[in-house]
Amino acid sequence: DAVLDAEFFLRWMNALARAVDREAARLTELDAAIGDADHGTNMRRGFTAVAAALEKDAPDTPGAVLTLAGRRLISTVGGASGPLYGTLLRRAGKALGDEAGVSRAQLAEALRAGIAAVARLGGAKAGDKTMLDALEPAAAALDESFAAARAAAEDGAAATVPMLARKGRASYLGERSVGHRDPGAASSALLVGALEEAAR
Ligand code: ADP
Ligand code: MG
Ligand code: MG
Repeated sequence: DAVLDAEFFLRWMNALARAVDREAARLTELDAAIGDADHGTNMRRGFTAVAAALEKDAPDTPGAVLTLAGRRLISTVGGASGPLYGTLLRRAGKALGDEAGVSRAQLAEALRAGIAAVARLGGAKAGDKTMLDALEPAAAALDESFAAARAAAEDGAAATVPMLARKGRASYLGERSVGHRDPGAASSALLVGALEEAAR
């Protein structure tokens, strides 16, 4: 298996910034149904800032790329998704340490550490109709392959449609949150899709 270096992580973050830019209207539309119609705007603002910071700094280890990206998300995104995705990437970056190259298995393990930190911060668990419903299955499937992780994230996002939201703004709607895809699960599928794109 290929060693994943800082270049790979920069490709991942740049592919994600492009995907979020392309899909911003769809993410905001999903959030209009069960939230406050800003998820696409929040994600675009955050990942545009991430791409700009990485362009300026170009950190030379995988851990430093994710740590910087996470910090930028926290400082630029006002909504819940900023601190949550910021925590995911910062914690995963910390788990990767200062190694110049990491394996896919190490990345999967680091993402699991990041996901656990997101769950602690937001108090959510699988089945609560949040980003975790896409991220958790994706991190598990990443042990198999990048393509399996992407498919698992997409399936996980689709599986949020019939769920009742128990965390975040959508939870204020109670039963009325049923029948809509969670916007954060949709953006998490973009995050994992960009990871697979970087690996191609
Ligand atoms: P806000 O709700 O503050 O407007 P966004 O619209 O950017 O923030 O993000 C909403 C998404 O954040 C939700 O769709 C959900 O996936 C995720 N989210 C919200 N609260 C939590 C939480 N407590 N734990 C995990 N994810 C959450
Ligand atoms: Mg919102
Ligand atoms: Mg908001």
